[in-house]
Amino acid sequence: MPDRLNVVRKTGRMVSRRLMRRNTTAAVRFAEAFSRFPALAGLIGTTIAISMAVLSFAALWQGRAQALQNAHQAAANLVATLSADIARNIESSDLSLRTIVSGVQNPTVMALPPDLRKLVLFDGATSMNYVGGAFAMNREGRIVVERDPSEHADLLFNDRDYFKVHAEHPDAGLFISGPYVSRLRKGMTSLAMSRRIDAPDGAFAGVAVIALNVSYFRNLLSRVNVGRLGSVFIVQQDGVMIARKPALPSDGAGYVAKSPSFAMMKDAPSGSYISRSPLDGVRRLYTFQRVPGTQLIAAVAPAEDEVLAAWRERSIVIGGLTMMFGSGFVVISWLLAISLRSRAIAQEKLQRLAGTDSLTGLCNRRALDRRLDEEWRRARRADHPLSALFVDVDYFKLYNDTYGHAMGDDALVAVADCIQNSAKRPGDIVARYGGEEFVVVLPGAAASGALTFAERLRVKVEELAIPNSAAPRRVLTISIGIATASPRQTDDALKLLNNADAALYLAKRTGRNRAIHEDSVAGGDA
Ligand code: GH3
Ligand code: MG
Ligand code: MG
Repeated sequence: MPDRLNVVRKTGRMVSRRLMRRNTTAAVRFAEAFSRFPALAGLIGTTIAISMAVLSFAALWQGRAQALQNAHQAAANLVATLSADIARNIESSDLSLRTIVSGVQNPTVMALPPDLRKLVLFDGATSMNYVGGAFAMNREGRIVVERDPSEHADLLFNDRDYFKVHAEHPDAGLFISGPYVSRLRKGMTSLAMSRRIDAPDGAFAGVAVIALNVSYFRNLLSRVNVGRLGSVFIVQQDGVMIARKPALPSDGAGYVAKSPSFAMMKDAPSGSYISRSPLDGVRRLYTFQRVPGTQLIAAVAPAEDEVLAAWRERSIVIGGLTMMFGSGFVVISWLLAISLRSRAIAQEKLQRLAGTDSLTGLCNRRALDRRLDEEWRRARRADHPLSALFVDVDYFKLYNDTYGHAMGDDALVAVADCIQNSAKRPGDIVARYGGEEFVVVLPGAAASGALTFAERLRVKVEELAIPNSAAPRRVLTISIGIATASPRQTDDALKLLNNADAALYLAKRTGRNRAIHEDSVAGGDA
């Protein structure tokens, strides 16, 4: 059992090592892709930064919507509370109104002594502090019974809107008037809640009235906190403002009914919208609700600027940090891209140098091996021949001995240039094999073509007429051995070079300053 366990553990370790190796290879491949396309680092960095910024701004925008939603929710709750408070009080006052109406219509009640009659007609609700007065008036508009005695013998109220409504409309029910200046209560602003009193035959017999102090509404609104720029108000459906916090400017009354946003509020039971106030130009979030059973509308309107203030502050910080870190990230990724690019350039230069002969600037032996291999495989694929030339400077030791090593170097460079300028086709390789020996590879060249090329090259070098006084011909010459192969049939590039070398050996043996093809070696020319 322990053995099996060991095996399992060992296998596990091997698998994880293999996985790690695979991951490492993937990482290396990824890193190589980066070094090959340095701009990728910058582009990926920029894309990441832009995506992060977009996400962050989307989240912030979402936060804005959330802040507005929360404000709307809070306003809706406030409006509901306000509306419920007003509705409750109006309902209780309406009950009192109905008591007055039925009392006045009852001859027994009206026949009671004044003190007792008052107790029957005006219940406890009429003495609430928001009720300014309670009374009944006859069909002429003269007060016949009232809760609090006042000097009114000569006053007629038939000019009041509520009086006219009930006189003309038997089915008006509960009517709530617009605000008016009371003639009974030292000019206090009031609202009249009223109901019609019918005579036994249904004819108009008068009006029962409970006057509500507008200060009740003002007190109610004063407890609502809507910020410095927000507003809260109770308005009638016809646009008459009952109370507002902050108080309406003296010339502001007309604005409300005419305001385009009021049109949205007028006919709906409840709702919300954002609008710029024509009164003070502040954009507010209006949330409103009709007070049930009345023509009153309660509305809470916090200012958009104040609702969004916290969000705006947070957004500036988060947005600023996002932009700062994002642009930092972009800058760093492009710096990385630039450094990767310069590293790639340096590496490429190093690679080129590693494959270049420092004296002549030709390919060195290492580069020759690599490129010959490439050309060999290409020739094999394309099934075309490949020729190689082995070039050796004749009597070069004598040249060095005569003119010195430095002059020898110059002569080698001149010969190298001459060879380089002769092999101009793409794919041609010119390499310094070592010392005063060069190799030329001519892809696609058959034996005759290679021989022609070699012969022309030999003549060119001779025509350079570099003096070599110690040599039999007095000028610097070269000997060339040529070999040709068909890579589909021959399996070795090394053999090609060896054959060319053998041909060179023959060229040397047969007098130098000549080009000899391997075929002549095989043919027994040697
Ligand atoms: P052969 O005609 O048989 O080729 O005679 P050779 O003198 O050219 O041949 P050998 O191999 O005896 O001598 C080659 C000489 O090339 C020896 C060396 O001093 C010289 N040589 C090799 N490399 C360099 C070099 O980089 N610079 C200089 N100046 N001379 C070099
Ligand atoms: Mg040599
Ligand atoms: Mg030589």
